[in-house]
Amino acid sequence: MRVFKFGGASVKDAQAVKNVVRVLEITADSSLLIVVSAMGKTTNALEKIVSAYLKNTTELTALIATVKNHHLKIEEELFENKQHPVFQKTEDLFNKLEATLSQNKSQQYDYVYDQVVGYGELISTTIISEYLNTVGYKNTWLDARDMVKTDNAYRDAKVDWERTQKNIMTLVRKNEMFITQGFIGSDTHNFTTTLGREGSDYTAGIFAYCLGADSVTIWKDVPGVLNGDPRVFKNTELLSQISYEEAIELAFYGASVIHPKTIQPLQRKEIPLRVKSFIDPTSQGTSVEKGQALHPYIPCYIVKKNQILISLSSLDFSFIVEDNISEIFRLFHHYQIKVDLIQNSAISFSVCLDDKFNHLDTLLQQLKSKFKVTFNTGVSLYTIRHYTKKAIQTLEKDKEILLKQTTRETYQMIVRE
Ligand code: ADP
Ligand code: ASP
Ligand code: MG
Repeated sequence: MRVFKFGGASVKDAQAVKNVVRVLEITADSSLLIVVSAMGKTTNALEKIVSAYLKNTTELTALIATVKNHHLKIEEELFENKQHPVFQKTEDLFNKLEATLSQNKSQQYDYVYDQVVGYGELISTTIISEYLNTVGYKNTWLDARDMVKTDNAYRDAKVDWERTQKNIMTLVRKNEMFITQGFIGSDTHNFTTTLGREGSDYTAGIFAYCLGADSVTIWKDVPGVLNGDPRVFKNTELLSQISYEEAIELAFYGASVIHPKTIQPLQRKEIPLRVKSFIDPTSQGTSVEKGQALHPYIPCYIVKKNQILISLSSLDFSFIVEDNISEIFRLFHHYQIKVDLIQNSAISFSVCLDDKFNHLDTLLQQLKSKFKVTFNTGVSLYTIRHYTKKAIQTLEKDKEILLKQTTRETYQMIVRE
């Protein structure tokens, strides 16, 4: 059995959905589980709906109508038969979304978020499954929430592997084609949970692990994993092979082409991950598998924008020692703030942070009661894996560097932009 994952860009409009068929024509076989994300930027649009709902603003109805019309337009382009059941099925999903909002009593952002944004995937998979059925790719639509079981850490749910494995083994059969949603799961009370933004790659990893799949292919708008994001860096080159360890490192430092959690389950069962172009499906792409770290062995560039640099020193010039540091990290953990880089001296301690859950203000309040705090928001963290002197020189040119750090394989700098 193989697992395919189609991300937002690969299903962003009717033309893109038709291209999925072309990809399947060239590459699919009979045993296939397909994980699909929400279409294009739907998740962002649903995030706006969550905010409008919780702030009780008047634009809510219009925002829902925009998402609905966008999908309707795609369906009209895909299905000639205007009586096709897909129209009713998506209508039902939008009705459910509206019912969820009107019946909801919680004001808890993360919970409401998960009950709403998952509709992007439920709708996209419904349209794509129906479309593939009409063009001859017989498939079964599965609700990922019946399989991927998680805790109730909304927006960042942790997988219950044992229950998930059992459910997947019960519902997914060999020699058939299945379509399911990326990104979503459900908790023990069957409320929808999400695995974190861009989490559909991770879903593909979860299914592949539980099925003991032969391989996972994620279809992207780039030729594969390059040695830098082509939107940011010039003259990027394709990495044809990457080891699991190296892929985990690259994703950890922020190479957003693969979700960081995807690799670990694949590595545990040595399942190869291919990253390929949905525009040019026969081209080689990148293979993440056991073997040499990187081929070709060249510097890899990563940038994480919109990070926070905080420097702490003690109020009385005493040393920043283990007990202060453990208290600081307890706060980061408590506020779900991810630490990208650490540097310390006797009386000062600097960290680069990623605040995905917008808890910075509360964190700063707490820190300021114990430390002298200086901070910069909106800084960028650049990383070069397998750096060379020349690579560093070129990257540093004309940048205002706030901090840098070099280890054996990794160079990092924080830049004000
Ligand atoms: P999906 O449609 O699956 O959500 P993403 O947009 O998340 O796809 O990922 C593809 C994008 O990742 C590319 O368009 C590219 O700009 C970006 N990207 C970041 N780092 C890299 C890299 N090292 N190699 C290739 N693409 C990268
Ligand atoms: N639709 C979700 C997102 O945009 C999950 C994903 O695409 O991977 O974050
Ligand atoms: Mg994505």
